[in-house]
Amino acid sequence: MSELPDNPAGHICLSFDFDGPSLWMQRRSTSPTPVSRGEFGAVAVPRILKLLGGRNIPCTFFIPGHTIETYPDVCRMVADAGCEIGLHGYAHEFNPGLEEDDERWALVKSIELIEGLTGSAPVGYRAPSGDLTDQTVELLLEHDIMYDSSLMGHDYAPYRVRTGDSFPDDQPAQWGAETNLIELPFSWTLDDYVYLEFVTFRRMLMPGLKRPDDMFANFSDDIRWMVRDVDQGVCNVVFHPQVIGRGHRLMALERWLDTMAELGVNYARMDHVAHAVRAGRQFGVE
Ligand SMILES: [Zn+2]
Repeated sequence: MSELPDNPAGHICLSFDFDGPSLWMQRRSTSPTPVSRGEFGAVAVPRILKLLGGRNIPCTFFIPGHTIETYPDVCRMVADAGCEIGLHGYAHEFNPGLEEDDERWALVKSIELIEGLTGSAPVGYRAPSGDLTDQTVELLLEHDIMYDSSLMGHDYAPYRVRTGDSFPDDQPAQWGAETNLIELPFSWTLDDYVYLEFVTFRRMLMPGLKRPDDMFANFSDDIRWMVRDVDQGVCNVVFHPQVIGRGHRLMALERWLDTMAELGVNYARMDHVAHAVRAGRQFGVE
C-alpha cells in the first residue's frame, strides 16, 4: 500500500478517540451526568466528519468495542466516511490493572467488532488512558496488529516498541528487545483532553477549559518546527469528539486547519504511515 505521498515538509495524522460513555465506565462514573458527557461524543462525530470531509482530510478513529455496540449508526458513518478505525479496548480498560485473560478478551472482542464494521481487521491500537504493559505488546503482536500509538518516546519519528525493559535502582536502564510493533507516538501536549476537559477526580482536579486557540498555537509550533527542521516528519494529533465537538472548539479547529494549509503538510491515516514504515520508508529524519 503506497497511499502516502512523499512529502519532505511532513505528515499530520489527525486521530479521534471516540470513547463515548466507556471513558466514564473506566472511572466507575456511570451516574447520568458523566454518562451524558460521553453521549455528547456521538453528537460531535457527525460534525467532525462533515468538517474534515469538506476539506478532504483523511483521519483515524480509535473506537472502543463498547462504543461500536452502543452507537452502531454513528460508527457506521465513521467507516463510510473512509476513516481508519483502530482499537481502543472494549470498555476503555486500563491495561496495567487487567488480568491477561481479560485483556485478551477485550482485544479479541474489539477486533471482531471492528472487522464487522469495516470488513477488514484493524491494524492499529491506542491504549485507553495511554498505558501499555509487556503483555499488551505481546497480545497485539499475536493478533497481527501493526502499530501502537500510546507511547511518547519521540515526536516526529515512528520507532519500534521494546519489551522487557528493566530499571534496577543501582544500575542504568536495561533496555529490552525491539519488537515488530511500530510506534506512532503521541504526547499529552498534542491531545485536546488535557487542555480542554474539566475533570474532578477524588484527590485532584484537571482544570482544562483553556482557550482552544492557545492549545492550537502549541500544536502549530510543534508542526512548524517539524516542517522547518525535520525531513518527512510525522506528527500525531489526538482529539476526543466529546471534547473538541463544541462550537467554539470546532471554530478554533477550522482556523487551525486554515493555518496548517499554508505549511505544505500532508494529512495521512495512521495505517498508511505504518504501512510505509514497514515498507522501509524513512520518517522524522533530523
Ligand atoms: Zn480513550
